[in-house]
Amino acid sequence: MPLTKEEAEARGIKSKVCVKCEVDKPLEDFPYEHYGSHLGQGYNSYCRDCYSPKPTDIYFWTRHDSHGYCSNFYRSPIEIDGKVYPTVEHWYQASKTPVPDEHEMIRSLPTPRQAKFAGYHVALRPDWEEVKEEVMLVGLRAKFTQYLDLKLTLISTGDAALHENSPWDKYWGYAKGKGQDRLGILLMQVREELKAKG
Ligand SMILES: [Zn+2]
Repeated sequence: MPLTKEEAEARGIKSKVCVKCEVDKPLEDFPYEHYGSHLGQGYNSYCRDCYSPKPTDIYFWTRHDSHGYCSNFYRSPIEIDGKVYPTVEHWYQASKTPVPDEHEMIRSLPTPRQAKFAGYHVALRPDWEEVKEEVMLVGLRAKFTQYLDLKLTLISTGDAALHENSPWDKYWGYAKGKGQDRLGILLMQVREELKAKG
């Protein structure tokens, strides 16, 4: 019979040994489940670390991949401060410059690829390195709150680790394990925010 909360309380049991890893852990570290009408509820024999399937990894890169909606090139126009940007990439690249004309020029480019390359040639705001992650977060939050389907799809990835599998971007991308994976990490942060809001 699985150990119930009531029984644990009555017997003063606060921890137990996981059958798999054989570590003595607090009861809260064991999933509490319903085992069917004849067994009732109880703590699992395996601790959460051993019981739960390890999070899988999801790799995305182009917007045509199965998780291509994670790409900043994905066509989901977002509205920020009263302006519409065709993609997160447009928002991010336009935000690099403090010059309004350059900002508008990038915002109005037809493709995210053009926006990306235009971003190499604008006058950079002096604090760009300090603010770029926050700028990216603003764009990602806009995208995943303004489209219900994208929000639900992102949430449905559960606890999977998200990686932008760019072969060369060593900051935002995974770059075959050599990158800092920042886009994936920020996407996971936004996913947790969305889960918390429900
Ligand atoms: Zn265990």
